[in-house]
Amino acid sequence: MSYTIQISKVKESKVKDLDFNNIPLGTTFTDHMFICDYENGKWTNPRIEPLTPIPTHPASMALHYGQAIFEGMKAYKDMDSTPMLFRPEENAKRLNKSADRMGMPHVPEDLFVEGLKELVALEQNWIPPQQGSALYLRPFMYADEPFIGMRAATHYKFIIMASPAGPFFSKRIKLWAEKQFIRAAEGGTGEAKAAGNYAAAIRPTELAKAKGYDQVLWLDAAEHKYIQEVGTMNIFFKINGEFITPELDGSVLHGITRASVIQMLGAMNYIVTERKITIDEIKEASENGTLEEAFGTGTAVGIAYIKEIGLEEETIHVSDESPVGLEVNDTLNAIKTGQLEDQFNWMTRVERELA
Ligand SMILES: *Cc1c(COP(=O)(O)O)cnc(C)c1O
Repeated sequence: MSYTIQISKVKESKVKDLDFNNIPLGTTFTDHMFICDYENGKWTNPRIEPLTPIPTHPASMALHYGQAIFEGMKAYKDMDSTPMLFRPEENAKRLNKSADRMGMPHVPEDLFVEGLKELVALEQNWIPPQQGSALYLRPFMYADEPFIGMRAATHYKFIIMASPAGPFFSKRIKLWAEKQFIRAAEGGTGEAKAAGNYAAAIRPTELAKAKGYDQVLWLDAAEHKYIQEVGTMNIFFKINGEFITPELDGSVLHGITRASVIQMLGAMNYIVTERKITIDEIKEASENGTLEEAFGTGTAVGIAYIKEIGLEEETIHVSDESPVGLEVNDTLNAIKTGQLEDQFNWMTRVERELA
């Protein structure tokens, strides 16, 4: 199905004020946003407008009961400067999985992808040209119905914002294995990219940072033993030549980078096993010299190398001798920017005139 997206443009773009060599993180937004309202059981009035604050009723249900979900993805430029999206249908599917868990309506996948393409076409001058930079895209949905009482809302907004992001200089990070607080439990909302999951992670992350760590390594809710994931990244270990990543057991976010890295490692003839993995197993592997590498995967950073993991009074050290993950990261970036053939058919070109 094709949607009619009304476009009203700003008089003058702010892009000329942006220093692409020095982009402030997360505070710069492009001129426009895509926006769409859900009422009477369907999505109506898809449009692109100048990005401005939106009036909010104090009883808006998202503010009280937390029906709010989001996605995160990036637009890159091909060698000929055509904007490209990385696996956008996967983000559309995942938004709808999150919506299911939170009792929210689906956004039709084609509306999601068309809205993205239309916005990216209009904002393509905001895609930073520098290697490693990209235009971060933030699709999200929230309940904007004014109502006090517990039930699914009947009014929602679906919005896509865009924010240019500078290159991420990946230093090796330090994780804190968290044994007191949890992120996700069986039957909970860990698989959903739901706002509340991140609210619950803020305090434990601040405590970990105060101890000198970059991120929390989340362990399972019941035994504080099985590794789940990191902040907004999934996690991979390489032990004795084999890659291992926690299985998707309902409490781990289905990362699109995770799925892509599994596919790439497979194509490089590595064995990748998805299974339960305990923090003690990682500690043992570190002690006996078989822990060859560890890294996190996510849209924001690509691949983030792990240097050490703090576990109560101890420190688990990770070797930095065989960084296969760095090779995977380079290949992934080269695919995203059209420098390598798109052998997995992941890229969607945004073939539109500059609106
Ligand atoms: C978004 C996210 C990820 C990574 O997902 P990608 O699709 O690879 O960006 C991993 N874990 C959590 C908790 C996340 O929110």
